[in-house]
Amino acid sequence: YKNCRIPFVVANWKINKLKGQVFDYLEKVNQQVPDSSVVETGIAAQDIFLADMVRETENSPIHVVAENVHWQDAGAYTGETSPRALADLGVTYVLIGHFERRKFFNETDATVNLKVMAALRNGLKPIVDIDEDMSVYTQSMEAQPAVAQVAAALAGVSVDQIRNVTIAYEPTWAIGSGEAASAQQAQKAAQLIRQTLAQLYSPSIAEKIRILYGGSVDINNAAQIMGQADIDGVLVGRAALDPEQFLSLVAIA
Ligand code: PGA
Repeated sequence: YKNCRIPFVVANWKINKLKGQVFDYLEKVNQQVPDSSVVETGIAAQDIFLADMVRETENSPIHVVAENVHWQDAGAYTGETSPRALADLGVTYVLIGHFERRKFFNETDATVNLKVMAALRNGLKPIVDIDEDMSVYTQSMEAQPAVAQVAAALAGVSVDQIRNVTIAYEPTWAIGSGEAASAQQAQKAAQLIRQTLAQLYSPSIAEKIRILYGGSVDINNAAQIMGQADIDGVLVGRAALDPEQFLSLVAIA
């Protein structure tokens, strides 16, 4: 099954890069990543860099990823970024519901769902972040309930649309902490998420949806994590700030 899901490595720069560093980084990695049919690669950056990044990666397989998006296509929403404008710019993917958005900017399951729908409506591929504590599920001996954040984020997403969705499981305590989940913990969570997708759609559709792990991934733990049956890639903050390390992670994938 895993073979039908192309591995996906996404760097999340957050707000850590300056203009010169963006160009330097892209120059170093642009021609070094494999074709998207082997491993897909993406870099998430602040909106202010996205236009330059789309241009700089024109001849590279790297996908440009936005870190957030508004849920309205256009209108009077000062300071927000329109999904229609992102798609028009040539941005491919967008992170939605990252832990830091939920924690510092009051994003809720409801806004995450609106943003997922807005992205899909405009032809952007959402990378939906799930930071829910999975221990509530693994302790229960009952038939597994659907992972609540997954079900909420995907409410209204059709069978046709779901194939454009990537899920990223990022336990809050692992993000930026230097302490990644163990490969077994990450696999367990990814498996629960895939079971939820099977409940919401069907087992065969669930087998085709990519699930990434994020939270203190680095070149030392990436191989073990990506080797798990239900994990199809990684979303990497700190370690991917360095272009050499990003390339190493891609090579591991
Ligand atoms: P980290 O960040 O790799 O620095 O833990 C991951 C993320 O926030 O997506």
